[in-house]
Amino acid sequence: MKEKEFDFVIIGAGIIGLTLAKNLKKKYPDAKIAIIEKEIGIGAHTSGRNSGVLHAGFYYTADSLKARFTKNGCLFWREYCERYGLKINKCGKVVVCKNENELETLFELKRRGDRNGVPLEVIEEKELEKFEPNARTYKKALWSPLTATVDPVEILSHLKFNLEKAGIKFFLNTPYQRRIDEKKIGAGEFVFQYEKLINTAGLYADKIAKEFGFSKDYVIIPFKGIYLEYTGSDKPIKRNIYPVPNIKNPFLGVHYTIKVDGKIKIGPTATPAFWRENYKGFDKFNIKELLEIIKWEAILFITNSFGFRNLAFEEIKKYRKSYLINEAIKLVKKIDKRKFTKWGIPGIRAQLLNVKTKELVQDFIVEKDKNSVHILNAVSPAFTAAYPFTKWIVENFIE
Ligand SMILES: Cc1cc2nc3c(=O)[nH]c(=O)nc-3n(C[C@H](O)[C@H](O)[C@H](O)COP(=O)(O)OP(=O)(O)OC[C@H]3O[C@@H](n4cnc5c(N)ncnc54)[C@H](O)[C@@H]3O)c2cc1C
Repeated sequence: MKEKEFDFVIIGAGIIGLTLAKNLKKKYPDAKIAIIEKEIGIGAHTSGRNSGVLHAGFYYTADSLKARFTKNGCLFWREYCERYGLKINKCGKVVVCKNENELETLFELKRRGDRNGVPLEVIEEKELEKFEPNARTYKKALWSPLTATVDPVEILSHLKFNLEKAGIKFFLNTPYQRRIDEKKIGAGEFVFQYEKLINTAGLYADKIAKEFGFSKDYVIIPFKGIYLEYTGSDKPIKRNIYPVPNIKNPFLGVHYTIKVDGKIKIGPTATPAFWRENYKGFDKFNIKELLEIIKWEAILFITNSFGFRNLAFEEIKKYRKSYLINEAIKLVKKIDKRKFTKWGIPGIRAQLLNVKTKELVQDFIVEKDKNSVHILNAVSPAFTAAYPFTKWIVENFIE
């Protein structure tokens, strides 16, 4: 096996791995940095399969890492796209209520937004017309001017091009295989020697972390998000429209996303998946993962922790096109249902379950020792938050 020597080796070329490399290079300009990636290209998993929304940062409680980094991440990407001429749709978003019960959560989101320093306005039903004439609400709505949409794959490619120019080495088609000792791993046809290893392996981050003695309390329970695209030539909605979510769980509910080209998609769902890369049919089927994940899903089903049973039933119904569309049309006045004809590219969420409390972990988790750092639960809005989040990791976890 060929030996390679680097100061830093990053596992995973998703948005977390790439922005981490960018921040490492900024702090240590002379460092030798490698990114190893199991796929033949970048963005094959969550970073290239998401909604492309730059979140403004008002869903999260003020004590969380999500609150700390989302707004600044949003501002960072807005500026980045402008500076480099990358696509961005600064369409903003409205959050709408379906009934009286949701008003209280709407005000809670506003309070969270205020605490996180996020510009956000509570608007009256009548005013909503001015922001998004097709949206429908009960009494009040929220207007978020900072929310925008980008093309995540374009951003990833742009980052990779510039990282390579700065001397960072990419090893594609090079899956991490095993830990050899505290300063060596085997990956693909190589042995990598390093001063520091950073695990940003997304859906496999927990598995790799366990080999280094971390992620002891956690396991990834994958949740699949599917989308439906509106294929009509008209554009009946111009801004993102979201429902008031159930803030007890980390999902935002079926919503309308306006892509950078103005096209509309609805989704994503949050359906329990059976293995980590369970995108379609028996793609990347893995019996070992299936058995482990089914075991945890069965435990959650029986204990009904965090209302898992209802969540699973509700989300499975959304596999039916008509059900998914009916959920979405509750948020608007008028849209032609027949024009939702195309399934979008699904994404899978690397959601951590705390096996002790049997609760879903809400925030990002970082664990480390002298030679390795493990980034776990980099779930939504980690695309938005990636740059300031990984800058903080470089400043606080890597000396
Ligand atoms: C449906 C959905 C919609 C979302 N929408 C949004 C949104 O609108 N806005 C937002 O901010 N966030 C969104 N998110 C969240 C966001 O996409 C993720 O938080 C983010 O992409 C995570 O990035 P990552 O780098 O951690 O993971 P990934 O993009 O999954 O990258 C991890 C990489 O590690 C590689 N890897 C895994 N195992 C190995 C191994 N053994 N060896 C080498 N490489 C390995 C993988 O191939 C992959 O390329 C969404 C997520 C989902 C699921």
